Amino acid sequence: MLDVIKLLPDSVANQIAAGEVIQRPASAVKELMENALDAGATQIDLVVKDAGKSLIMVVDNGCGMSETDARLCFERHATSKISRAEDLFAIRTMGFRGEALASIAAIAQVELKTRRKEDEVGTKIINEGSVVKEQSLIPMLAGTTFSVKNLFFNVPARRNFLKSPQAEMRHIVEEFTRVTLMNPEISFTLTADGKELYHLYSGNLKQRIMGLFGNSYESKLLPVNQDSEKVRIHGYIVKAEHARKTRGEQYFFVNKRFIKHAYLHHAIENAFMEMIPKDSFPGYFINIEVDPADIDINIHPTKTEVNFLDVKLVYAILHAAVRKAIGQHNLSPTIDFTETPNLNIDFGEVAKASRPLVMPDVPIDANYNPFRQTPSNQEFKPKWNEFPQHRDRPSGDWRQLYGERTDINKGAETEMEETPTNSQYLQVNQSYIVTTVKSGILLIDQHLAHIRVLFEKFLKQLENHNGISQQELFPQALSLNMNDASLLKELLPELENLGFVMEQANPTTFMINGTPADATGCDAVQLLEKILDNYKINRTDLQLDRKLNLAKTLAAQLSIKAQTRLTEAEMQNLVDQLFACNVAEVAPNGKKIYVLLNVEEFFEK
Ligand code: ADP
Ligand code: MG
Repeated sequence: MLDVIKLLPDSVANQIAAGEVIQRPASAVKELMENALDAGATQIDLVVKDAGKSLIMVVDNGCGMSETDARLCFERHATSKISRAEDLFAIRTMGFRGEALASIAAIAQVELKTRRKEDEVGTKIINEGSVVKEQSLIPMLAGTTFSVKNLFFNVPARRNFLKSPQAEMRHIVEEFTRVTLMNPEISFTLTADGKELYHLYSGNLKQRIMGLFGNSYESKLLPVNQDSEKVRIHGYIVKAEHARKTRGEQYFFVNKRFIKHAYLHHAIENAFMEMIPKDSFPGYFINIEVDPADIDINIHPTKTEVNFLDVKLVYAILHAAVRKAIGQHNLSPTIDFTETPNLNIDFGEVAKASRPLVMPDVPIDANYNPFRQTPSNQEFKPKWNEFPQHRDRPSGDWRQLYGERTDINKGAETEMEETPTNSQYLQVNQSYIVTTVKSGILLIDQHLAHIRVLFEKFLKQLENHNGISQQELFPQALSLNMNDASLLKELLPELENLGFVMEQANPTTFMINGTPADATGCDAVQLLEKILDNYKINRTDLQLDRKLNLAKTLAAQLSIKAQTRLTEAEMQNLVDQLFACNVAEVAPNGKKIYVLLNVEEFFEK
C-alpha cells in the first residue's frame, strides 16, 4: 500500500482556516480595522461597496510596513505582536494570531499599499487567493491601505450563503460601532456606496456615543467609574427612563475588546432591577480593564466570549459601580407640575375655587447617594410628615397639619366613594388616585406608589443607619429553628438599621423590643418570618442585594394595599412623596406605577 497522507498546500490550508475567521464581510472589516488600531493609527477610514461584497477598503495613517513585512503579512502565523509563548499572557493588541490577513487573502483579491514614515517609497502588493500577483514600489503617504475586492470570489458556496445586502450592512455597522466605541480618541469615517454614513471626530467616550447613536444621548447617559486594584470599570449606562423595548446598545468590552457575557449582563440588569419596566432592556457602554493575565487570552477571532480568572469579583464590582451611578443621579421623571393655566379639567366647583395645582416644594438632594456608606449630613427630609399608618386611620393628625383643608377632608371622608368629589385628588375603586398635572391626567396605582416610596425610604435607612424605632409595649418572643435563627443573626445589623430592636434570649429565641415606626400596628413576628422567607429565597453574599431584598420585602409588606380608602391629604402626601423618589415610574418589581393621559393630545387641542 502507498502512504496516503499528504500535506495540504498553504493556499488550501488558508482557505480552510479562512472559513472560520472570515464568515462574512463584517469579519474582514473587523480584522482590518483592528490591524489599523494596532498600527497606532489616529485616522481610520472604512469604505465599502455592495455591503462589502465587492469592496472593503480600510485606510489608516499608522506605522506602515517595510517591503519585506508587506510580503510576509499574508503568511499564516505571521505576526509582529507576539514572539514567545509568555507573550500570550500580556496581550495588549487586538490581534496576535497572525491569521487574519492570510485568511482574507485566501478568499479575496487583496491590494495592499503601505509605507513607513522612514521609507522614501511605499510598497504595493496584489495577492489573489494566497498568490502574490504583483509587487511594486509606489509613492504614497505614510500608513496602510488594504482593499479587499470580491470577497469569496473563489468560494462560490460561501458567497451564496451571504444574507441580503441590508443584513450584511447591519453587521458591518455593528462591527464598526464596536471598534470605534472604545477608541474615541481616534477619528473614523464609514462610507458605503459613496455615501458617508459616519464621521466620528476624535473626542471622549460620551462624544463618541453621541456620534454613533445620536445627539439625544447627551442627556441620556450616566457615567460609571470604578477603580479597584484588580478591575477598573469605565463607561456609561443609559438612564432607566430611556431603557428601550429592544435589546441593542449593550456594549461590554474587556480591555477595549468587545465581548458578550451573560453573567456580567445580569450584574447590570440586576442593578437596574427595580427601576426599569419588565419589558425593557438596560443600555450600557462599559469597558472592563483587567490585567491581561487575569483573562483567558485564547480568544478565537470570531468569538466574543472571554473567561475571567475571578468572574465573581468582576460581577460584584460592576454591580456596585452601576448601583452607584444610578444612586448618584436623580432619575425622577420629567412630569411638569407647574401651574396649569390652559388646562381646565373640571373636578367640581371647589377645585376651581381652591388652590391651583402646584408642585409641592419637596427638597431633593440631587447629589444624594443612597449607597454611600457614611450617613449623609444633608439628610433627605420630605416637606410633609411621614405617611400616616393606614392601619390607624382615620388619622386625626391630618386635621391639625392641614387646618385650612379640614373641611374638604371631612367632606371627602364622609362622602368619598367612587363618584367624583370636590377635590384635586380623586380616589377610584379605592385603589387608584387620579390627579392633574400640566400635561394631563395622572392615574396612579396607590399600592405600587406606596411600595416605591417605602422601598426608597428603607434603602436610605439601611445606608444611613437611621431607621426610626417604635418601642413595643409588650416585647414579643420570636422562636425559630436553628437554621432560621442563624439566618436572622446574619440579618440583625441590617434589621437594626431599619428600626428593629431585638435581643437574642437563647440560641433559637429572639425578643422583639422595638419595630420600625412604619410597622406600627402590624404583627412583628409575622413580618420577621416573611423577611426570613424572602431572605432564604434570594440569599446572596452581596451586601447591596441583601439591602435591596430587605427593603423590597418590607415595602411590600407595609404598603397600602388596593381597596383601602384614602383621605385627600393622604393621597396628596403619597403623590408628593412618590415624585420625590429617585424613580417614580416603576415599582421595585418593575410594574408601572402610573399612566399619564395627555389631554391635549387626546382631544387634539
Ligand atoms: P495579527 O493582527 O494577529 O498579528 P494579521 O494577519 O491581522 O495578524 O496581521 C499580520 C501582521 O501584519 C500584523 O502583525 C502586523 O505586523 C501587520 N499589519 C497588518 N495590518 C497592518 C496595518 N494596517 N499597518 C501596519 N501593519 C499591519
Ligand atoms: Mg490582525
